Amino acid sequence: MSYVTGLKCREADCHEEYPNQPIHICEYCFGKLEVAYDYEAIGGALSRKLIERRAPNMWRYRELLPLDEEPTVGCDVGFTPLLRARNLERALGHSEVYVKNDAVNYPTLSFKDRVVSVALSKAREFGFDTVACATTGNLGNSVAAQAVQAGLRCFIFMPADLEAGKIVGTSIYGVNVVGISGNYDAVNRFCTEVADRYPWAFVNINLRPYYAEGSKAFGFEIVEQLGWRAPQHVVAPMAGGSLITKIDKAIRELARVGLIGEAHTRVHGAQATGCSPITAAVKAGEELFTPQRPDTIARSIAIGNPADGFYAIDTIRHSGGWAEDVTDEELVEGIRLLAETEGIFTETAGGVTVGVTKKLIEQGHIPADESVVISITGNGLKTQEAVVDHLRERPIIEAEADAFDELLEALCALVGA
Ligand SMILES: *Cc1c(COP(=O)(O)O)cnc(C)c1O
Ligand SMILES: [Zn+2]
Repeated sequence: MSYVTGLKCREADCHEEYPNQPIHICEYCFGKLEVAYDYEAIGGALSRKLIERRAPNMWRYRELLPLDEEPTVGCDVGFTPLLRARNLERALGHSEVYVKNDAVNYPTLSFKDRVVSVALSKAREFGFDTVACATTGNLGNSVAAQAVQAGLRCFIFMPADLEAGKIVGTSIYGVNVVGISGNYDAVNRFCTEVADRYPWAFVNINLRPYYAEGSKAFGFEIVEQLGWRAPQHVVAPMAGGSLITKIDKAIRELARVGLIGEAHTRVHGAQATGCSPITAAVKAGEELFTPQRPDTIARSIAIGNPADGFYAIDTIRHSGGWAEDVTDEELVEGIRLLAETEGIFTETAGGVTVGVTKKLIEQGHIPADESVVISITGNGLKTQEAVVDHLRERPIIEAEADAFDELLEALCALVGA
């Protein structure tokens, strides 16, 4: 039983409706399409108890996800830990900080596993035999892995010079990986042209309305894991700008179907200064962003011309949130801070989110006594290049206890113990 009523144009002065099909652009106004639901019916069917009885994965919220049938791909994705970050609270001088940790999502250690399970399940419903995507890294990892699990043919198009962890983490699945010379924005333009020529499921082009809905589960889980309570603040990294709009949508939907009371969560956006079209627009009070040429080590979120940038700006403004960006040095500090306080190793995008959270607390945009959830979206093992030159010194000694005695004495002398 599906509660999806079809696709609907996101432009407020259009709202044209379409039946379910693999399209993403409105024919009338060229606006972006999104999935529409019968919230009345969902409100009657769904309860906290029903959700809590289901298996701990993102499909426990299936009434609010856009499939017509049961999921067939990625059935175990999601329900990652939400932890109270007591050590980080002390470091940040804040009283209520949580980390939503998609660095340990299944199967490929990033939040992209959520959007891909929806996109590939939907691709199967539509009858596609081939799936493809343009990627900044994590999307390719997940499409490759889940396409193999689903027995779908797969093409991944990625910038040729991505981090080793992202390339290996895609190629290992034995799918068709094509390196493109150029940055992500070039790969994305190229991929749009390819999509016009081949009748395939492009997860972030013709399946984008369905794909994007998968990100809502990140927000549903945060609210349930807080005991059915919406946080006062969420900080999310932005690449194309989709995730942040869907976290906001998720919280509003839970209120709309009566699972929580009215919510007033402020969503804050995070980017790297070297690729900050969305944060620059928010800080300048603009409704539209100016595309940029990315120059940052935060490759997974380095999109200079973000597809949902306009909607991300709108979401941030309407929720009462703010946006900030951090330098590459600051994002490395952010990675280290999270690792050294909470024992969580995140990738460059997570370093950006932690660094921006710190800034927003210092600036007063996130008051020290209001609950905040930091969105950790990817795993540090995939971007080791970023931190390898910033690690604590590692002494190397002979395999003799005496040698260790000497070392320990030297170390103790160093710290004056
Ligand atoms: C893709 C990605 C994002 C941002 O996703 P958008 O929805 O495009 O804004 C954030 N973090 C990581 C690690 C990603 O891979
Ligand atoms: Zn329209």
